[in-house]
Amino acid sequence: MLDPDPDSLEEVVGRFIDGDLDDLIPEENLPFTHLKLVQDEEEEVMSAVRTEQAWVVALPDPKQAADTLKWLKISGLETADMDHLKRIRKQSSQMTLLLTYTRTHPSPPSLPPALALPAPYTLLVPRSAALTQTSLQLKNTLWPTVYAPRRKHEAEPWARARVQWACAAMRRVVQEARAARARGELPIAAYVPVPHDDETRAATQLSKPLIAGDTRVSAAHPLRHAVLNAIRAVAEYRAALPDASPPPASADAVSEDMREACEGGGATRNGTHYLLTSLTLFTTHEPCIMCSMALLHSRVKEVFYLIPMDKTGGCGGAACVPGLKGVNHRYAINRWRAGRDWAVECGLEVGPGTDA
Ligand SMILES: [Zn+2]
Repeated sequence: MLDPDPDSLEEVVGRFIDGDLDDLIPEENLPFTHLKLVQDEEEEVMSAVRTEQAWVVALPDPKQAADTLKWLKISGLETADMDHLKRIRKQSSQMTLLLTYTRTHPSPPSLPPALALPAPYTLLVPRSAALTQTSLQLKNTLWPTVYAPRRKHEAEPWARARVQWACAAMRRVVQEARAARARGELPIAAYVPVPHDDETRAATQLSKPLIAGDTRVSAAHPLRHAVLNAIRAVAEYRAALPDASPPPASADAVSEDMREACEGGGATRNGTHYLLTSLTLFTTHEPCIMCSMALLHSRVKEVFYLIPMDKTGGCGGAACVPGLKGVNHRYAINRWRAGRDWAVECGLEVGPGTDA
């Protein structure tokens, strides 16, 4: 038998028991806080906008735009990391064409003589798409930039019923971590609950929750982290489904993949690897950088953790993996309030240098 849940856990869970299940819980009353990814907060003032040098050329006659764009497509100058920038800037009657980065072409690119264009010159352009309207306005003053607001789930409202679902999941993962400790393992666990809403439940085909503890002690294997074990449990569950079909992507994920395809970013990927599309993972400790990357590859929708790992965590501690430049998926990160107190009370403490 496990010890009963500690009082602090009961207290938090108890706060959401009574009341209308459809009541929306204000953000400041939620038992967790949503972590802003680095880019979201970073580029709201001009000095924070990251830039780099690019070659551009003036188009003396606007009628040249079509021919020049056609030539640019086959010129080999365009690279996938230019996708967040529009190709042409219009300022009153003056048109300017973006050619390429000086990083990839240190000397001025040669232009087809038939187009009779002036010599290219360099300009500072934004390094990434605009995540907010403020950032878009700033970036557009440098060069017209694509607006790619944060994904809608990050601002999703929380009804009482969904908060209860999250509390139950966090309680379950704490139980599993304590059970792991009782078995002589590190007290770390990860849990993928059945989705709260019917639509996601049907789309993800996840009809039973999956849970895993850390097993690096018993397996004498340094990579048997709880999160990786949980991802493997999802893979095995999916493989055992009657038709063993790959997880269907949500409409959200499909549209994002379409967008990436249309914009030329990313290599061809195998959809069967997106094990956690639309799913939420709860874990006792902030996942290490390796596990945070595995979650990114699995396309998890959101992660909740109880205990921050400042020295080793990949979800806001030592690094913020889904906030890194160049990653092709972002997931939401939620940190449980008062997680450290729970950790002590529940006996879930691990050394500060431990990779969770
Ligand atoms: Zn890990």
